[in-house]
Amino acid sequence: MNHINFNNIGKICYGRGSYSQLGEILEPRRNDNKGYMVFVVDDYFEDKDFSIPAKGNDLVYYIDGSHEEPKTSLIDDLRDEILSTQGLPAGIVGIGGGSLMDIAKALSLMVTNEGSSVLYQGLNLIKKPGIYHVGVPTISGTGAECSMTAVLSGPEKKLGLKCEWTVFNQVVLDPDLTTTVPTDQWFYTGMDTFIHCIESATGIKYNAFSKAYGDQSLELCREVFLGENAGQNPENDEKLMLASLFGGLSLTYSEVGVCHALSYGLSYVFGTRHGYANCLAFNHLKDIYGEAVDEFHDMVVRFNINLPVNMSAGWTDEEITAMSEIAIRLEHMWNHAFGPGWKDKVDLEYIKGLYRRL
Ligand code: NAD
Ligand code: ZN
Repeated sequence: MNHINFNNIGKICYGRGSYSQLGEILEPRRNDNKGYMVFVVDDYFEDKDFSIPAKGNDLVYYIDGSHEEPKTSLIDDLRDEILSTQGLPAGIVGIGGGSLMDIAKALSLMVTNEGSSVLYQGLNLIKKPGIYHVGVPTISGTGAECSMTAVLSGPEKKLGLKCEWTVFNQVVLDPDLTTTVPTDQWFYTGMDTFIHCIESATGIKYNAFSKAYGDQSLELCREVFLGENAGQNPENDEKLMLASLFGGLSLTYSEVGVCHALSYGLSYVFGTRHGYANCLAFNHLKDIYGEAVDEFHDMVVRFNINLPVNMSAGWTDEEITAMSEIAIRLEHMWNHAFGPGWKDKVDLEYIKGLYRRL
């Protein structure tokens, strides 16, 4: 057996108000390469009272994180623009949700690797280490702050640039940054963590490492979404931020499963956002994920979340086939969920049947 030899986040600065330390944290790295920082920031913050510790020749890009997940073309264009404007930056800082985390991670790799990011969608295809990069999440749940992948949609697939250099050198986890997330989005992205832990635990890769982080993350999720004090409040903002991190670390030694495979198909074909797509799929996977789906339903009711029913009635056969083709290519997820004999159970028809439940 080949054990994962994984790269963890270099440094973590956690706690309410920790964002105010970002400027100081960047200071010692400012002279690297051409001596300037690039900030990629969710444009939600553009017209808010939000200070970015940019100075000198730093570049600040506000990027719309609200309507589509990051594309390979966005990364390629941004990389070309940055390099042709001021040369190799000292570092990249991503501020926002999972989309902005992934943009920052992908850019940090693509400024040193030639050609389109499409060439590097997959495991260990990146050839050279990227540059210093920092993640500052403003929503909790994806685990993108610690994962070794930067998920991108390309012309043919939704797949991450996955390698040890993808992992952030530094993250700043300030729960205060998440207070403004609208309730629906808070729920969908938070459920990403809950589902990560359930899928991590339901499959052949699960082990004591995944369990230790996953159990802790699940406990925090249950307090945040089902506990006496459930809901968006400062205490839960702190808990959910850690739940997200631990859920991500649980996955490092395990794998996601059926829900994520279906979710990737939905995102690819309809552009459905990751957290929401997970909720749409998980809602109908009781036969696979059992009581966790009942628990999920309790959370949906508790927060008055409206999940559509009978969506698939509006989908064409081509759309269902296209999603299923995306999903079936995620072999590592099916393998984790059903074991090495997964192909005996799972084929295109089976996956189409899962989509038709939605
Ligand atoms: P997101 O980045 O897609 O943002 C969702 C919405 O929340 C946007 O409209 C954004 O403007 C808004 N927003 C962000 N912070 C806010 C704040 N503090 N206040 C108010 N609004 C705010 O959200 P997400 O769910 O965190 O990320 C989803 C993305 O993450 C997908 O692209 C998915 O592919 C990716 N992802 C990556 C990994 C990984 O390991 N790399 C894992 C899971 C998901
Ligand atoms: Zn996820």
